Amino acid sequence: MSSVNLNANAPSGPIETTWSEHKKKIKLVAPANKRKHTVIVVGTGLAGGAAAASLGELGYNVLNFCIQDSPRRAHSVAAQGGINAAKNYQNDGDSVWRLFHDTVKGGDFRAREANVYRLAEVSNSIIDQCAAQGVPFGREYGGTLANRSFGGAQVSRTFYARGQTGQQLLLGAYSSLMRQVDAGTVKLFPRREMLDLVVIDGKARGIVCRNLVTGEVEKYAADAVILATGGYSTVFFLSTNAVNCNATAAWRCHKR
Ligand SMILES: Cc1cc2nc3c(=O)[nH]c(=O)nc-3n(C[C@H](O)[C@H](O)[C@H](O)COP(=O)(O)OP(=O)(O)OC[C@H]3O[C@@H](n4cnc5c(N)ncnc54)[C@H](O)[C@@H]3O)c2cc1C
Repeated sequence: MSSVNLNANAPSGPIETTWSEHKKKIKLVAPANKRKHTVIVVGTGLAGGAAAASLGELGYNVLNFCIQDSPRRAHSVAAQGGINAAKNYQNDGDSVWRLFHDTVKGGDFRAREANVYRLAEVSNSIIDQCAAQGVPFGREYGGTLANRSFGGAQVSRTFYARGQTGQQLLLGAYSSLMRQVDAGTVKLFPRREMLDLVVIDGKARGIVCRNLVTGEVEKYAADAVILATGGYSTVFFLSTNAVNCNATAAWRCHKR
């Protein structure tokens, strides 16, 4: 892929303020109007499952696709070691900046830096959200959340649920997702393989996919498309026109 195709569409400006400034200026959708908008989310792993559940909770009409027969079978289930957050519980010098820096370094400097900074910024809220979803994180005897130093990190910032963090996180995301399915805001489309993205006037407006049960090719339209397909495929090529969301960056940091 040539670099010409790589446009992250990330807001410009100093990296520490890029997203907070952007968030101040983006247009909002009135609560009563959210149900009039359809969002396609491709993927039901930690990224897609959480995105679909959150958008459904906000009131959008969400169509959520995955290849497997159940959202719970996404590859996120394989994650083991834990999830990073700059809580600095140990007071060992951690910060959003250090988590950002370690993650970019752990990703061999290939990640989109503005997006990694955002990930580091929201890392603490992610842990809080997961704990609220009932994820059984390891705890100290006093009841506070435990964490450990993982990979090449110089600080203790990895929150874990024994050796099955991904599975427990996915069960948490899945519970939120199924709550929205029950509420009617999210419609699930398992056993569908996305084949192509529909782009109209430079904006992602739908997908074409194969129904893996019947073999038929189906099309779905939406106001926006989120690709949360795990990240390790040529689907990144499509992502110049769609929001691309994956949970991989944090792990690359652990691998060091
Ligand atoms: C063995 C192992 C250990 C790991 N340990 C850790 C760890 O300790 N800490 C950590 O932070 N990370 C870890 N990771 C990495 C982490 O698991 C992943 O980065 C993360 O789970 C990816 O989540 P995701 O939602 O982006 O993608 P996934 O969970 O892979 O979900 C992708 C989704 O997209 C769907 N999909 C893909 N292509 C299509 C298509 N064409 N059409 C329709 N649907 C499609 C799939 O069906 C699935 O639902 C580990 C990974 C592995 C393999």
